Amino acid sequence: MQLIQIKNNTYYFDNPSIIGLYRLNEKEVVLIDTGLNDDVAKKVLKIIKENNWEIKAVVNTHSHADHCGGNGLIQKRTEADFYSSRIEKSYIETTSTEPHYLFGSYPPKVLRAKFLQAKPSNIDIVIDEDELNIEGNKFQIIDLKGHSPEQIGLITPDDVFFVADSVIESKIIEKYKFLYNYSLKELFNSLDMIKEIKAEYYVLSHGGVKKSIEQDIDNNLKVLESLNEFILDYLETPDNKNNIHKAMIKEYGLIENIPNYYLNDSLLSSHLGYLIEEGKIAFEVIDGEVKYNK
Ligand SMILES: [Zn+2]
Repeated sequence: MQLIQIKNNTYYFDNPSIIGLYRLNEKEVVLIDTGLNDDVAKKVLKIIKENNWEIKAVVNTHSHADHCGGNGLIQKRTEADFYSSRIEKSYIETTSTEPHYLFGSYPPKVLRAKFLQAKPSNIDIVIDEDELNIEGNKFQIIDLKGHSPEQIGLITPDDVFFVADSVIESKIIEKYKFLYNYSLKELFNSLDMIKEIKAEYYVLSHGGVKKSIEQDIDNNLKVLESLNEFILDYLETPDNKNNIHKAMIKEYGLIENIPNYYLNDSLLSSHLGYLIEEGKIAFEVIDGEVKYNK
């Protein structure tokens, strides 16, 4: 793993899920997210030590395991204060919530693996304002709900905007086909908002540093809208979610394992929920089966 400077005091670790770093002063730094697990955190701590720095604070953008899985080790080994939004705090502190909602009940072991359930850690300070002041350094906090219940983005004093997982790079989408989301409506709102925010650099947790983000946002919107259209076309004949899921996987040419199945099923629920709320489809229970219809 390498630490790469973006501009002035803003850096990032080129981890598969990017970790941001901001230098508050000669000695202290802030981390934005912590990666998947102890192994990632160890590499981060090694580089921090080599530079003779101290971690003053860690800000988690959201609770997905690849963003907060390194918290535990950093918490154990440093004096850092941990920050997140209120809802994400509850998930970060009780990481079993994610496999619980994916499975719908106590999840079997395969769904409690490290990608779906990080080690729990504590959040010391809830961020509920749109500015975060750490040692006189002011970070703008951007509400980026949608990908997860209360994801946040940060703009550093150097005008570098960490957008977390609200925008995924186009090449990565080609591989996974779908975009994970919790509330599609909120995600659309967040994408519209990011378009309006002019920053000098944008950092996509999955995709890296960009001077311009519009093309990626448009590609993300295309992917989200195309799944809505697929569902609406499919529901010319009313059907249940299992069959919609099956048709969706066939249409997009994917092969799933158990974790992929539950993640895809969860994002399908988000699309179905959105279409219901928008009045484009309805659902009802018929003979013990939920049927969706146009
Ligand atoms: Zn995420």
